[in-house]
Amino acid sequence: MTPEQKLQSVRNSIAEAESRYQRDSGSVRLIGVGKVHSAESIRAIVNAGLNDIAENYVQEALVKQQQLKDLNIIWHYIGHIQSNKTRDVAENFDWVQSVDRLKIARRLSDQRPVDLPELNICLQVNLQEEPNKSGFTEKELFEVVDTISALPKLRLRGLMAIPRLTTDFKEQRKIFKLIRTVYNGLRSKGLQMDTLSMGMSEDMEAAIAEGATMVRIGTALFGPRQTKAGLSTPTRVIRAR
Ligand SMILES: *Cc1c(COP(=O)(O)O)cnc(C)c1O
Repeated sequence: MTPEQKLQSVRNSIAEAESRYQRDSGSVRLIGVGKVHSAESIRAIVNAGLNDIAENYVQEALVKQQQLKDLNIIWHYIGHIQSNKTRDVAENFDWVQSVDRLKIARRLSDQRPVDLPELNICLQVNLQEEPNKSGFTEKELFEVVDTISALPKLRLRGLMAIPRLTTDFKEQRKIFKLIRTVYNGLRSKGLQMDTLSMGMSEDMEAAIAEGATMVRIGTALFGPRQTKAGLSTPTRVIRAR
């Protein structure tokens, strides 16, 4: 498939899911995840009509941003953030979806250049409390959210989640539903949030069914990720029993 056809096919799947689960047409925003893929592959997708691109690694992203600076791209950071990288992130992205500690939020706000608009952020949640994944638990979220939403150079837009993947559709929906419940709980405290970023190539439909407003898609748009060892196998897949 050409990049145009891949983009069209993902857009069609989103539109079908929106209509199947009574979501408003156009209410789910597609983010292309470019990690590991070349600047040229990203260029092709952007030329095909996608404007939102996400990256996981700061150095890799900065190189590609240079190579693609002639294009009009909204850049999202979705990777783990080390404290010593917050300045690069604050200066070079439009969104940071993977804020997972109060300290990181403070640094991003302090380091966001004054001449740039507020940095859009999502708080990464880890409701399954997986020890190898970052993110706030529900309790931590309620503890930090007011402080974070008051930081001057940030605009808290919502939550981002990377649940453990299962191939069982009902199980996928269950965790997404829990995330949505927490999101709604925060909104009922009066927080003005509009973003629920959940759903990847393998669990996008379940995420849309449960209210995702953003899906982050890599493989379905760019193909499998090549690693030094060969084609990557998804590390988070746990087969349904
Ligand atoms: C890699 C990645 C994605 C995209 O995953 P695919 O399964 O390739 O669609 C989405 N979100 C995050 C945080 C990622 O790291």
